[in-house]
Amino acid sequence: MLLNRSEWLHENAPRRQQLLHLRTGQVGEESGTSHESTLAARRGLVGKNDPVGTTDFDAIVVGAGHNGLVCAAYLARGGMRTLLVEARSTVGGTASSERFADATVNICNCDHLTFRTTPVIDELRLADHGLRYLDVEPAQLNMAWSGGPAWASHHSVDATLDSLAHTHPGEVDGYRRYLDVALPAVRLVLAAAAEPPSPVGLLRRVASMRGRGALTLLRWSRRSAADVMRSYFRTDALQGPGMVTGPMVWGISPEFAGSGLGALTYAFRHVGTVGRPVGGSGEVPRTLLAAFEAAGGRLMASTKVAAITCEGPDVRGIVLADGTEITAPTVVSACNPHDTFLKWLTNAPPQAHGLIERWRSVRHDDGYESKIDAVLTSAPVVDRVREAGFDRPVAATHVIAPSLADIHRGYELLQRGEVLDRPGFLVNTPSVDDPTLTGDSRHVFSLEALFTPYALRGGWPGSEEASRWLDVFGGLTGTGFRDTVIDWRVLTPDLYERDFHLPHGHATSFAGGPLAAFRNEHPELTRYATAVGGLFLTGAATFPGAGVWGASGRNAALTVLRSRGATA
Ligand SMILES: Cc1cc2nc3c(=O)[nH]c(=O)nc-3n(C[C@H](O)[C@H](O)[C@H](O)COP(=O)(O)OP(=O)(O)OC[C@H]3O[C@@H](n4cnc5c(N)ncnc54)[C@H](O)[C@@H]3O)c2cc1C
Repeated sequence: MLLNRSEWLHENAPRRQQLLHLRTGQVGEESGTSHESTLAARRGLVGKNDPVGTTDFDAIVVGAGHNGLVCAAYLARGGMRTLLVEARSTVGGTASSERFADATVNICNCDHLTFRTTPVIDELRLADHGLRYLDVEPAQLNMAWSGGPAWASHHSVDATLDSLAHTHPGEVDGYRRYLDVALPAVRLVLAAAAEPPSPVGLLRRVASMRGRGALTLLRWSRRSAADVMRSYFRTDALQGPGMVTGPMVWGISPEFAGSGLGALTYAFRHVGTVGRPVGGSGEVPRTLLAAFEAAGGRLMASTKVAAITCEGPDVRGIVLADGTEITAPTVVSACNPHDTFLKWLTNAPPQAHGLIERWRSVRHDDGYESKIDAVLTSAPVVDRVREAGFDRPVAATHVIAPSLADIHRGYELLQRGEVLDRPGFLVNTPSVDDPTLTGDSRHVFSLEALFTPYALRGGWPGSEEASRWLDVFGGLTGTGFRDTVIDWRVLTPDLYERDFHLPHGHATSFAGGPLAAFRNEHPELTRYATAVGGLFLTGAATFPGAGVWGASGRNAALTVLRSRGATA
C-alpha cells in the first residue's frame, strides 16, 4: 500500500494519534508542526510494536525502481525498520508498466533475462505475491536493414544453429566458434553478479570455473565490440543485431575500444531464459513492493528527496523537497550517482571530498532511447520473419539492425541531434503471448528506437520523427500497418527526464563487467559502500549494471546487512 507524503505530513493532531495504531503496510498521516512532534509521529509510523531507536528509521532507501525495491525488501526482511522513498506516485521506475489506451504497456522493452538468473524471486517469494513468467521462445528474431531473412535466437543452441543453417548457412561455423568462447564468459559474468564482488570472491569464482571465461572477458574488454563481431561473422544480419542489444542499448558506438563485452549478448540468451511477467513488466515491482511491505517496510510515494545529510563522518538522513528531515543511520541511494553525490549530499565529511571531486569529472551522458507504445487491431507479421518460417505473429522481440558502419554513423549523428534514416529497432507485440495486456482481441505493440538524441535538432515537441519510425517499421510488414494502429504515444529522452527523473533522459548503466569490479576503480559502484559512513549506493549505475536484473539491489542490501553483522 502506498504511503503518500501528503497523507504522511498533516497538521491535524488527532490524526497523529491514529499513527500509533497503524499496522504494517497501512497508509498513515502525520503532523509536522514541530520537530519533536514530527519525530514522534514518524516513530508512530514505524508501528507501535516496533522498537524505537534514536533515529526515525534504521534504513532509508531513496528511489523505488526495481533495484531500490529489491534492496529495501532485503533490508526489511533482515529486521531493519526500512523506509522507501519514491518521487513518482507508483513504484518500479523504468521497469514499471502503466495503462495507456485501455491496455497495459511497459516502460522498458520488457525482455527480462538476467532477473531470473538471480535468487531474488525465490528468496523474496515473489511467486507467493503473484509473479508468473512466460518464457519467450524463440527468444529473439534478428535481421538487418540491408536485407536477408530473419534468423531466430532460441534458448537452445541447437535450435539456433538450425535456424541459421536454414537462413544464413555461411554463418553457422562462426556462431559455433563464437559460442565456444562467449558462453563460459557469460556464465562467469552471471556467477560474479550473484554476490557483492570482492577480489577473493571473484578469484574463487574464476577458479571454480577452471578459468573458463576469464580470458575471454580479459581479451574482449580490450577490443571493440565491432571488431569481435567481424572476427566471427560475415554479414550485417549477424554482426548488427548483437550490437543493437549490446553497445547501442548502452549508448556507445561498437567501434569504441573497450566495448568488446557488448558482443556477449547473443550468448546471454543461451544461458538465461528470456521471459516476460504475465500482466507486464510492472508485475516485478508490484510483487517486490508486496514482499517489502509483508516484511514490515514502509513506502512513501509522491515524495521527492532533495538532500542526503551527514553528521560528522556519517550519514544522518534525508531531507524531502518540502524541507522535512527524516533520519536513519543507513541511507541507500538507488538513484544515479551524479544526483546522489553532486546534488543531494550535504555537509559531506572531509573523507568524502575526493569522491565528490571524482564524480564532478565523470561525464553525465544524454539519453538516447525512445519507445513507442501502440494499441493495434491486429498483430503485425514482418515479411522477413515469415520467410524464416514464422507465418503467424511472434511475441519475441524483433531486432532490426543497421550495419556496423551505420551504427557508428548513428552515434555520430546522435551527437549532432540527428537520427539515422533506419535506426536500430527493438520491436515486439507482447500481447501475442499475454492477452491479459488488453483483455480483448486488440494488441499491445512496443517499438524501442536507439540513438535518438535528448536534444533532437528542432526539439521533440511537435516533431514527426517518431511517426516516421512507425512508417519505417510498417514498410517491413507489407501494406496497411498504420491502419491497424488504434492509438499510440512515444516516450523520448526529454520525457524520461520529466516523468522518470532520469537526468537528461539518460538511464545510467555500469558498463564494466566483473573485471572492472575486480579493479575496483570506483569502489562506490562495485562495493556499494561510499566514503560517507552509512551511505550506500545501488541501482543500474552500480555492478552489475542496467537491465531488469535486481542483482545490484540484492548485493547492496547484503553489503549493508553484513556491515551490521546481520543476514538477509
Ligand atoms: C526504453 C528502455 C527500454 C529498456 N528495455 C529493457 C529490457 O528489455 N530489458 C531489461 O532488462 N531492461 C531494459 N531497460 C533497462 C531497465 O529498465 C533499467 O536498467 C532498470 O529498470 C533500472 O532500474 P533501477 O531500479 O536501477 O532504476 P530506475 O528504474 O531508474 O529507478 C530509479 C527510481 O528513483 C526514483 N527517483 C529519482 N529521483 C528521485 C528523488 N529525488 N527522490 C525519490 N525518488 C527518486 C525514480 O522516480 C525511479 O523510480 C530498458 C530501459 C529503457 C529506458
